[in-house]
Amino acid sequence: MSQEFDVAIIGGGLAGLSAALTAGRLGHSVVLLTDGVPGGELLKIEKIDGVPGYAEGVPGYDLCPITQEQAEELGVEFVDEPATGISAEGEGWKIASGAGDIVARGLIMATGTAMARLGLPGEERLHGKGVSECASCDAPLLRGKVAVVAGGGDSAMQEALVLADHLEKVIMVMRGDGLAGQARYREAVEENPKIELRCNTVPTEIVGEDAVTAVKVKDEASGVEDEIAADAIFTFIGLVPNTGLVADLVALDDTGRIRVDAAMRSDAKGLCAVGNVREGSPHRAVGAMGDAAAAAVALDRYLATGAWRDA
Ligand SMILES: Cc1cc2nc3c(=O)[nH]c(=O)nc-3n(C[C@H](O)[C@H](O)[C@H](O)COP(=O)(O)OP(=O)(O)OC[C@H]3O[C@@H](n4cnc5c(N)ncnc54)[C@H](O)[C@@H]3O)c2cc1C
Repeated sequence: MSQEFDVAIIGGGLAGLSAALTAGRLGHSVVLLTDGVPGGELLKIEKIDGVPGYAEGVPGYDLCPITQEQAEELGVEFVDEPATGISAEGEGWKIASGAGDIVARGLIMATGTAMARLGLPGEERLHGKGVSECASCDAPLLRGKVAVVAGGGDSAMQEALVLADHLEKVIMVMRGDGLAGQARYREAVEENPKIELRCNTVPTEIVGEDAVTAVKVKDEASGVEDEIAADAIFTFIGLVPNTGLVADLVALDDTGRIRVDAAMRSDAKGLCAVGNVREGSPHRAVGAMGDAAAAAVALDRYLATGAWRDA
């Protein structure tokens, strides 16, 4: 026997939580499936920058639980089980999960992205033993030590700055001639005496028996190899969209993200996509929140009228 809701949301990051909040406020019965503690990639971030009203940033471990509480107060049901399958069911969608089947006329995909792995020798074996993607989780444990950060974009710079507050030295290795991303972060990184930049450099191997002891790197132009003695490596080299569940149900762009219109509607009736998983996402917290409101309003109209987008 399936549980029925007006709106089902898959993914408990900021996009999913915000969609739950708006759909709940619109008076719909809402279920949100998560695969762990809600909050997604922002849950562990010490300082979310760029959110209006928070000049000094806001901790993700504050903002996400508060948003969850707001949604719960509106009656949103949280299911701590990942969605394992999605299929069309009558006028709506059936979602399979460890908690049983859920049926909803409106579905919001908010499954976000996964961090791309480097795919290097030693990476899987030493994951959690010096290989990490969370600076704020591990920086206090690495006080006075040396870490490599792979990547030169916003996330890499933001996390390198967190690491530099605790570690003796942070070495950023990146493809290309220099840092890419927000000027604020670039300036802060370039001015930080604890952060060293190694451009045109790619990691080739992570070295260590029971814990990371070094990272082998190669100069992109000359091919010259080198070994950096380090206690940890943090990787921020790109994002892979979590769209496996809907790959056969909706149109995806060439990066694998869900194609949507301005109201976050996919080409499948009743299915919206929000946050990092949708085509053209700005990959910002406020973007995730805005998408969420647009999708919840679009589904509200759809539930009332049955009309979907033209294309
Ligand atoms: C290190 C870092 C720092 C950042 N700092 C900032 C910042 O300072 N300011 C800013 O504006 N933005 C920042 N961002 C970007 C911001 O985190 C994202 O734009 C935003 O959080 C995206 O939210 P989301 O809900 O789309 O995705 P996510 O946060 O990735 O959430 C998706 C959720 O869906 C879950 N999920 C996936 N598959 C399933 C399934 N089958 N069933 C159930 N659940 C599933 C995932 O586990 C996850 O919890 C940062 C990102 C990173 C990585």
